[in-house]
Amino acid sequence: MTARLNLIVLGKQGAGKGTQSTALSEKYAIPHVSTGDMLRNAVKAGSELGKQVASILQAGDLVSDDIVNQLVSERFKEPDAQRGVLLDGFPRTIGQAEALEAMLGEEGIKLCINLDVPIELVTQRLSSRRVCQECGTTYKDTDVEAISGTCSNCGGDVIQRADDHPEAIRTRLMNYERDTEPLLSFYGNRGLLVIVDGDQSPGAVTDEIIKVVHERGLA
Ligand code: AMP
Repeated sequence: MTARLNLIVLGKQGAGKGTQSTALSEKYAIPHVSTGDMLRNAVKAGSELGKQVASILQAGDLVSDDIVNQLVSERFKEPDAQRGVLLDGFPRTIGQAEALEAMLGEEGIKLCINLDVPIELVTQRLSSRRVCQECGTTYKDTDVEAISGTCSNCGGDVIQRADDHPEAIRTRLMNYERDTEPLLSFYGNRGLLVIVDGDQSPGAVTDEIIKVVHERGLA
């Protein structure tokens, strides 16, 4: 059996994690596991979990480790996750990273890619970001899809995320610095961290990541 390709894409909100994760999950045929998407879907569906987390998401605060660890551990049991996973937005705290190590056992994380983008640029990207509610395609506020409110990919509604307003953006970036940035040392100490300049075209960023995965003999 080939080893599982478990990859983490880390980076500030707006660094391009979603875009890169979509491209890499296609390239390596592993599922894109985004805890943000899973939680937003729960809110949209009005489930018990959704009701519990809705106001936390809207404010840009972090959901508890227990809730997200449970979500991810359930997701790992699905058949499509048996060849590996592309983790986007998880782990976000040291507690989650430790729980992840316990979940994966010997078939651990193979690589953690940090998309490095200056704070001014991510703030600007998040403020002007619009997203399709159906398929998740992202647009800029000046794109025709954002102006018309209709996704050219699937016809879904293009909206501004509830947490892409200035106050929530500030909270999310503060939380990132406090809770998530320590993961750079966590994975750096394990020799698993690669820093990629996220201030390039999406295609150039993907190519750089693919090169690293190849150089490390992971795929
Ligand atoms: P994202 O789409 O990754 O920016 O996530 C959107 C929101 O979902 C975050 O601002 C948090 O409220 C919540 N969330 C997503 N992933 C996590 C996580 N790993 N731990 C805690 N909260 C999370």
